[in-house]
Amino acid sequence: MHGTFTDNDLSHVISADKAHVWHHLVQHKPFETSDPRIIVEGKGMRVWDQNGKEWLDAVSGAVWTVNVGYGRESIAKAVYDQTMKMCYFAQAAGSVPGALFAEKLIDKMPGMSRVYYCNSGSEANEKAFKMVRQIAHKKYGGKKTKILYRDRDYHGSTLAAMSAGGQEERNMQYGPFAPDFVKVPHCMEYRKHELGLEHLSGAAFGLAAANLIEEVILREGPETVGALCLEPVTAGGGVIEAPEGYWPRVQEICKQYDILLHIDEVVCGLGRTGTWFGYQHYGIQPDFVTMAKGVASGYAAIACMVATEEVFDLFKDDPSDKMNYFRDISTFGGCTAGPAAALENMRIIEDENLLDNCTAMGARMMANLEALKEKHAVIGDVRGKGLFLGAELVSDRDTKEPVDEALAQRVVAEAGNHGVIIGVTNRSVPGRNNTLCFSPALIATAADIDQITDAVDKALTTVFG
Ligand code: PLP
Repeated sequence: MHGTFTDNDLSHVISADKAHVWHHLVQHKPFETSDPRIIVEGKGMRVWDQNGKEWLDAVSGAVWTVNVGYGRESIAKAVYDQTMKMCYFAQAAGSVPGALFAEKLIDKMPGMSRVYYCNSGSEANEKAFKMVRQIAHKKYGGKKTKILYRDRDYHGSTLAAMSAGGQEERNMQYGPFAPDFVKVPHCMEYRKHELGLEHLSGAAFGLAAANLIEEVILREGPETVGALCLEPVTAGGGVIEAPEGYWPRVQEICKQYDILLHIDEVVCGLGRTGTWFGYQHYGIQPDFVTMAKGVASGYAAIACMVATEEVFDLFKDDPSDKMNYFRDISTFGGCTAGPAAALENMRIIEDENLLDNCTAMGARMMANLEALKEKHAVIGDVRGKGLFLGAELVSDRDTKEPVDEALAQRVVAEAGNHGVIIGVTNRSVPGRNNTLCFSPALIATAADIDQITDAVDKALTTVFG
């Protein structure tokens, strides 16, 4: 191991963790008989656990976050320098890195204009939802409060974000949810039979899937619908890219019915799919873009809700109305560590040509996964964009019946035995998380990519023969 922990330090850390830490997204019973994994150190693509075991991290910190890799001294230094000079001030006051990062970010987002700082993807989405509601009251006499979200998409863990949550499994036991969030169908070609569109493919399917959104708008009444919130490439719902034909029609529908388009770039933002933002592959112009994970690659907590000048204009001074501003605050939106880290993170992505590397390495990984699909009948579909890829495991390629989640989890564990951390997702059907997911840092080399897919190959052979 790289670190300098003694055995004593480590046993104290593990007992403190077991006694007091409530881990995310897991049951804790297993920790009675085995230790939680504690990641002690990271460098580049690799991390080391408490036992000194080296892992190749193919999921950028479990949830698609550490886009520029671990151990970046220049980001740590940017945070140190900034916080020593000025760590925090909130409310109406601005900050030097806040202004400079906003300028740099908007430069990468033609058509967008204003950056609202907060702390998490959920919070950024909540900000946009609140704006949609406020616009409904200001501009539409209290109508147009409805927010459409898509089956299989995820927008966060807070209650309003969950109200826009299309992943059935995550929402179970947390209702009732906020009113006026309305679900529209997914756009997943592999499971188009669920939409009754099995006779269509490619762009024709994409167009028909987008038209299903229009059907919901017409059913609800366009005068009641304020916004449509979508992931550019669905992440936790199974790594789903919409087919050609989908996005231009989505944009057209939003324009036709005067509906704001909110793109949730919490996962895709800052390079994950090979462009700065996922939506930029599809030639669309959103009204809101939210982002979090890759903004500072996890070196500091930062999220942004970005809006157009047209949206901002609606909240501009109106001397006759003292309530005419966005009456919202985020305490830690005043931290300077986030934008300082984000500025340096962006410089690294640019100077090291990581968008190009993401595209090239994504193509390599996709080719490797296609080859695995030829070899392993259990892989029903491989899909994704850039370094954001998934392989869906099915017990029967004709019926597309998902494998049992326990089997997918065994593949993850077996890949771990070969030193590679991969993920599994697809939280739509309880107990059927069956899509292996891969999102290595954008610095991945060809050797890293091959090491990941070799481990997956071996793991699939062990579990399925
Ligand atoms: N939106 C998407 C697409 C996500 O995948 C996530 C988290 O995984 C969120 C929003 C919520 O982000 P956070 O966990 O930072 O609140």
